[in-house]
Amino acid sequence: MVGRPNVGKSTLFNRLVGKRLALVDDQPGVTRDLREGQGRLGDLRFIVVDSAGLEMVEDDSLQGRMRRLTERAVDEADVCLFVVDARAGITAADEYFAEILRRRAKHVILAANKAEGRAGESGVLEAYGLGLGEPLRISAEHGEGMDDLYRTLVPLADQFEAQNIQQAPVTDVELDEESDVENDESWRPSATNPLQIAVIGRPNAGKSTLINKIIGEDRLLTGPEAGITRDSISVTTDFMGTPMRIFDTAGMRKKARVTEKLEKLSVADGLRAVRFAEVVVVLLDVDIPFEQQDLRIADFAETEGRAVVIAANKWDLEEDKPQKLNELREAFERLLPQLRGAPLVTVSAKTGKGLDRLHNAILRAHEVWNRRVNTGRLNQWLSVMTEAHPPPAPGGRRIRLRYITQIKTRPPAFVVMATHTDKIPDAYSRYLVNGLRQDFDMPGTPIRFTFRDQG
Ligand code: GDP
Ligand code: GDP
Repeated sequence: MVGRPNVGKSTLFNRLVGKRLALVDDQPGVTRDLREGQGRLGDLRFIVVDSAGLEMVEDDSLQGRMRRLTERAVDEADVCLFVVDARAGITAADEYFAEILRRRAKHVILAANKAEGRAGESGVLEAYGLGLGEPLRISAEHGEGMDDLYRTLVPLADQFEAQNIQQAPVTDVELDEESDVENDESWRPSATNPLQIAVIGRPNAGKSTLINKIIGEDRLLTGPEAGITRDSISVTTDFMGTPMRIFDTAGMRKKARVTEKLEKLSVADGLRAVRFAEVVVVLLDVDIPFEQQDLRIADFAETEGRAVVIAANKWDLEEDKPQKLNELREAFERLLPQLRGAPLVTVSAKTGKGLDRLHNAILRAHEVWNRRVNTGRLNQWLSVMTEAHPPPAPGGRRIRLRYITQIKTRPPAFVVMATHTDKIPDAYSRYLVNGLRQDFDMPGTPIRFTFRDQG
């Protein structure tokens, strides 16, 4: 979903995703980053990425970064829904986006929003002039035009489904040479593309102390920037040589100066920040680690598909460090099996000890989260796995796993084309996922794994 601020993208996002993930506001640019959600329209299921708050400025500021984020989203999307405001008419910003979309997008659907009743008719006519075909008249707020949107999407969905399933095996070899994105390093952190982290944990775990320590000891690149939600801010800092943007919520309501300490955040605020983070640092108080609240927070980060680093704080207070570390590792494995292999580091936010370990763990988790595995290697791996341990044959009919491909990164997502997918036991899925993790060295990231039925 692409469009200039205030055309109604968040409203449409909410309508399609059905959960109130996005924040709607009259002020332009309230929503500032990419948001993803599971969308549905009739029987169609898709991922909606809302690139709200796009600006035209091409520089290294927040706007520049948002534009690059959006371009990346456009490149990855199967279909771009370009939203314009039928009431406001076509602006220079709309034309600018139309130009980007014409160059980069695979498919564009033009939607003229706020056209409830017969409002905005002249804006709809202007929208024809963008050269992106006939605009759909919709009203995100009132739910009008969703049937037309559905009818436009269905043939595209069929087409992509067909491509993903049938063509993939045939183009295997070419795919590896051509579109295997292993050499795409654009996700690597840089001054203009800082690694986005959130530090979350129960009250008094030491979050504020840690963030202040990081900001205080390292070079602060940019001050508090108005964040993605009304109450949030982020700071961009050079953390041991890596530009990182640390999301904080409710931290600086009063637009405190950079030098002032960050205020405390609530757990709920922290959970919101998770959506905008690439890597989530779950900070534990080493005296009371892995309590219910910590487990919920870590699980939430996993469910949201973020890379996770567990940091046990207040390590300076610990007397018998080796013994304690063993206990922590054991508890971690037992209580958070879904985060198997995620890095566990010990730190002292107070003294700064262990911050280098934390830094390295964040970098590594981020790298794994962005990992793309070569399709050829994946399929070799699949045949080894199925030979070593063939899938069961329920009622004498053998399940065939035909082909595996990685459809997405951040976090890595894989699809296996198979027969009788409804008969595949969970234990067999786990065998494959654990194998993937181990054989392709992907600890500390959620892995999405689905089967697609091929009759
Ligand atoms: P975004 O910046 O593109 O995400 O835009 P928002 O979704 O925040 O919407 C901006 C404003 O337009 C809000 O005040 C919405 O209530 C309003 N809006 C969104 N969709 C419609 C619509 O279909 N009709 C009308 N009249 N207003 C809408
Ligand atoms: P928050 O609620 O998670 O933001 O926690 P704070 O940063 O406010 O820290 C809570 C308390 O723990 C404060 O009294 C801190 O001084 C203390 N604290 C934080 N980090 C450490 C640490 O590494 N070692 C010790 N000994 N105390 C710490």
